[in-house]
Amino acid sequence: MNFENFNLRPEVAAGVKAAGYTLPTPIQARAIPPILKGNDVMGLAQTGTGKTAAFVLPILNRLMTGKKGAIRALIVAPTRELAAQIDAAIVELGPQTGLRSVSLFGGVGLNPQIEKLRRGVDIVVACPGRLLDLINRDSVNLSRLEVLVLDEADQMFDMGFLPDIRRILKHVPARRQTLLFSATMPREVLHLAREVLTHPLSIKVGNSVPAATVSHALYPVASHLKTPLLLELMKHTDTESVLVFTRTKHRAKRLAEQMARAGYQAASLQGNLSQTRREAAMGGFRDGTFRVLVATDIAARGIDVQQVSHVINYDIPNTSEAYIHRIGRTGRATRTGEAFTLVTSEETDMVRTIERVLGNPIERRQVAGFDYTAAERDTPSASPADQKARPSSSALPRGNRPRSNVTTSRGKQGASSRGPARPAPRVQAAR
Ligand code: AMP
Repeated sequence: MNFENFNLRPEVAAGVKAAGYTLPTPIQARAIPPILKGNDVMGLAQTGTGKTAAFVLPILNRLMTGKKGAIRALIVAPTRELAAQIDAAIVELGPQTGLRSVSLFGGVGLNPQIEKLRRGVDIVVACPGRLLDLINRDSVNLSRLEVLVLDEADQMFDMGFLPDIRRILKHVPARRQTLLFSATMPREVLHLAREVLTHPLSIKVGNSVPAATVSHALYPVASHLKTPLLLELMKHTDTESVLVFTRTKHRAKRLAEQMARAGYQAASLQGNLSQTRREAAMGGFRDGTFRVLVATDIAARGIDVQQVSHVINYDIPNTSEAYIHRIGRTGRATRTGEAFTLVTSEETDMVRTIERVLGNPIERRQVAGFDYTAAERDTPSASPADQKARPSSSALPRGNRPRSNVTTSRGKQGASSRGPARPAPRVQAAR
C-alpha cells in the first residue's frame, strides 16, 4: 500500500510529498480508504501512529470539491497543544488546496479568532470550551458541516469535556460524516461513540501498547533520591530531547528549575503557565532550545516532537493508559526511544499493572556508583517542602561522578551515535 493507492487529488498528494511521507502508516492504510468513501470510523489509535494525517488527508480531499469559505469540517481536540498541532498538520499537508483553517482555543484573545472566522474558513480545529463560546456568540456557524472529528476522545472524557461535546453536537447537522479517535475505550467513550457514529467501521492499531521501537526500564529508588538519580542518569545517557513527567504542576516547575540549575536547558510545561509561556516552552522544546521538558500528563497530551529520544517518568503514572500515552511521545514513526521510570517500593502494584499491559516484565536497572543509601537530609527533591529547607546548589550532590562508574544492566555505555547528554553550557530559565 502506498499513497498513490488512495487516488488523492493532486493538490493533496503534493502536500503528502512535501511533508516527506513515503509510505502510509498502518492507521493511514486502513482508515484513509473508508474515510474517503464517506464512512464513519472509530479509530483506536494512540498518538504517534500517524492518526492526524489519517483524517486530515481525506478531509482536505473531500473539501476540494464544493464551495469554499463555510465551515465544512470540525475537529475537536482536548488540549490547545493538540489543536495547534492538528492545525499545523493541515497547514503542512494542504498548502496547495486553497483551503483555510483556524484553531480555536482559550488562553488567547477572542478577537483574532473571530476576525479569522469572519474572513471565512473551511476547517475549524477547536477545544470544546472556546468553541462553545464562539458558537454562543454566533461567530461559528456549523450548519454546513460535513465532517466532524472527535480526537483523543478518552482524554476529552478524562478532562470532563463530554457534556460540552454533547452541547456542540446540538449545533451540527445530523447528516454528516463522523470520525472518533481514542487511544483507549473507556465505557463513557463507547457510549459517546454509539451516540455520534452511524454504522462505523472500527479500526484498531497498535493494540494500545507502545510502539515496539521503545525499550523500557525501571529504576527503583527511594523517593528522596529521585532528583539526584535523575541527574546522574541524564549525565550518562545519550539523549536527544528528553520529556520528563511528574505527578503535579508544582513538581514539574520545581524539577525543571533544578535541572536548569544543574546545567540542562530545561523548561516546564504545566497548567499554571500563561499561553505565551506554554508556547515558548513547546516551541523551545521543538526547535531544540530546550533539551529537557518537564511536564504533567495533561499539559503533555499530544506533544509531537520528532526527536524525543527519552521519556522519563520521574513519577510513575496512575494508570497503564497514562503510561502508554506518555511513552507514545518517543519512538515515533521509525525512530527508537527509551522509556525510563523511577519507582519507589510503594509503587510495585502500578508496575505490575503496566507490565501486564505490555505483556512483558520491565527490566530493572541500577546506576552503578550511585549512593542509593544517602539519607534524606543530604538530598534535594522535587517536593517544595524539601526544597525550601535547602539552598539550590544542593541539587548537585554527586554531579561529578566519573562516567565509567555508571552501568546499566545492558552493560552499554554511550554506544549510541546521539552523543552524551552532558549538561549544556547555557542555562535556560526553567519557564
Ligand atoms: P500523529 O500520530 O498524527 O501525531 O503523527 C505522528 C508523527 O508522524 C507526526 O510527526 C507526523 O508528521 C508523522 N507522520 C504521519 N504520517 C506519516 C507517514 N506516512 N510517514 C512518515 N511520518 C508520518
